[in-house]
Amino acid sequence: MEKYIIIKEVGNGTFGNVWRALNKQTGEVVAIKKMKKNYYSWEECINLREVKSLRRMSHPNIVKLKEVIRENDILYFVFEYMECNLYNLMENRPHLFLESQVRNWCFQIFQGLASIHQRGYFHRDLKPENLLVSKDHTIKIADFGLAREINSQPPYTEYVSTRWYRAPEVLLQSPIYGPAVDMWAMGAIIAELLTLRPLFPGLSEADEIYRICSVIGTPSKSEWAHGHELAGAINYQFPQICGVTLSKVLPYVSEDAINLITWLCSWDPCKRPTAVEVLQHRFFQSCFYVPPSLCSNTAVAPSVGIRAKPLV
Ligand code: ADP
Ligand code: MG
Repeated sequence: MEKYIIIKEVGNGTFGNVWRALNKQTGEVVAIKKMKKNYYSWEECINLREVKSLRRMSHPNIVKLKEVIRENDILYFVFEYMECNLYNLMENRPHLFLESQVRNWCFQIFQGLASIHQRGYFHRDLKPENLLVSKDHTIKIADFGLAREINSQPPYTEYVSTRWYRAPEVLLQSPIYGPAVDMWAMGAIIAELLTLRPLFPGLSEADEIYRICSVIGTPSKSEWAHGHELAGAINYQFPQICGVTLSKVLPYVSEDAINLITWLCSWDPCKRPTAVEVLQHRFFQSCFYVPPSLCSNTAVAPSVGIRAKPLV
């Protein structure tokens, strides 16, 4: 750690504190995450989800892990530095973001997600605090502390994701779930970016399901048979609510955005789109896809971009 000068604390998460720091040798500004737990061997560190998953990711919309250091049984992750997170950008903001701004961020996030899912992982803790933004408006997915391998052995019983972004199958304690939980979280995040209010701000797990029902309506058995089985298994009874039209909850939001959020926030995980499908949705019609190989560190002129695939 001697080669770094700590500048200031920039984040305090569940698993670690994050500092802005300077690499004395290169002059590069980095983010250093000091894990709260102690680690007594390298093996233990290398097996951490955050290390295992991030080592396999290399994508312009996924935060880059530069180095892992273990010193005096303390574990440090050195990341590329990002200016702020999406929560910082939303808090105390007096007026809404332009939809084009939200579209641009989300198009990038879904490209990162498509890559994570394609590599056989899902994130499980997507929320505004874990989406980092740089000065040039590049957005990157961070915090792989809860990432899971798609083919890893269920049951998945440990703590998962912040409640407001948690998918219904997880709330109903399904032992098996997959990348569709990230798609649910993205539906809630897009709505929040467009209104600056959380879509499902539940006060408890039961209240979370209640709020989801009050917005998208209680699922019928034909809409989500497995959900009813999950509810039965834990003796949970869905409240009977019709829900509202999303356009009432999301005023000033375009039809395309509402259509996408509705699709992402489908009760049945099998009915949610994949990240690749989302990238082809009408909401992203005006976005350009730039292959990651072309945009490593330098900005790429839009003319190099390839038009997003056929539109749905
Ligand atoms: P935790 O697992 O404890 O939630 P995170 O990796 O999410 O830790 O980091 C906590 C906070 O620290 C983030 O919400 C963000 O504000 C800040 N942070 C994390 N990584 C970086 C980074 N690479 N650059 C700048 N800030 C960061
Ligand atoms: Mg975090």
